[in-house]
Amino acid sequence: LVGIKQAGLQEIYFGGDDPLLASTGVAGVYGRSGAFERVVGGLFRALARLRPGGAEVRDFPPVMSRAHLEACGYARQFPHLAAAVHTLMPVEEEGRQDHTASGQATDLVLTPAACYPLYPLLGKRGAIPQAGVIFDTRCYCFRREPSERADRLQAFRMQEFVCVGPERVALTFRNLWIPKMQSFADSLGLESSLVPAKDPFFGRMAPYLAQSQLDQGLKFELVCPVASARHETAVFSFNYHQDHFGLAWGLRDTQGITSHSACVGTGIDRLAMALFRAHGPEVGRWPAFVVRALGLN
Ligand code: AMP
Ligand code: ZN
Repeated sequence: LVGIKQAGLQEIYFGGDDPLLASTGVAGVYGRSGAFERVVGGLFRALARLRPGGAEVRDFPPVMSRAHLEACGYARQFPHLAAAVHTLMPVEEEGRQDHTASGQATDLVLTPAACYPLYPLLGKRGAIPQAGVIFDTRCYCFRREPSERADRLQAFRMQEFVCVGPERVALTFRNLWIPKMQSFADSLGLESSLVPAKDPFFGRMAPYLAQSQLDQGLKFELVCPVASARHETAVFSFNYHQDHFGLAWGLRDTQGITSHSACVGTGIDRLAMALFRAHGPEVGRWPAFVVRALGLN
């Protein structure tokens, strides 16, 4: 069903005549078609309807403070995925200009997940209420993982529901959202399964960090076929960070105890691709219940 046409240019088809994802000449970086974006719009609206009452909305740009990303350990744990913004100003070296160097560093990195810019802002707001705080964030994210596989993009959209609060509040939030997202996937006619998961840590300690994440049940994913029926890929992630961000940003509750956090991430582009794979290239022919769930009728 999924075709990747390659004549120097990579375009991704989900059965129809027009590519849903059109080449930009770089693997994993695509232009989206009108049909694809119509579904993406439906997904954002459907997720907004799932938003818990009282959640604050934060729509972040694709760049964030480099200092903030470094302070929470991302640059140390995932330096292979993280990318910084440099200008193309030539670097002055020994009186001559080096035009081949990567240019001058700035204070920006490309945002790798929709929740990272949130925690430093919370640190400036004072004590976190005992009931916790909930956010609905979204961001165009970047991860340096070039791939010919249709489901692995370098630039992709992510939406997250995030909870920061006392340990039990954050963990309960994470656990509650697993069945909620399973029902959401069902309502879209997708067959998904829940699997324990780990992050792609970098370096010598990577196997230990990943094993400890698995042993402690810190990350789960809902996987479903995205690019091919034989291969399942994560579409939703459920992360419990313990006090990782609480410690990094001095987040405390009204009793002075370090806050814990959890996030529920939806890969918007992957989810849209999974829908085209499951229901075909023409949205007009999708099952009525799916079209209704996305408000596309
Ligand atoms: P993570 O922070 O790795 O758990 O990612 C959150 C969600 O973003 C995943 O469940 C995926 O749906 C999506 N995602 C992560 N990496 C990629 C990628 N390379 N291409 C497309 N979507 C991705
Ligand atoms: Zn997150």
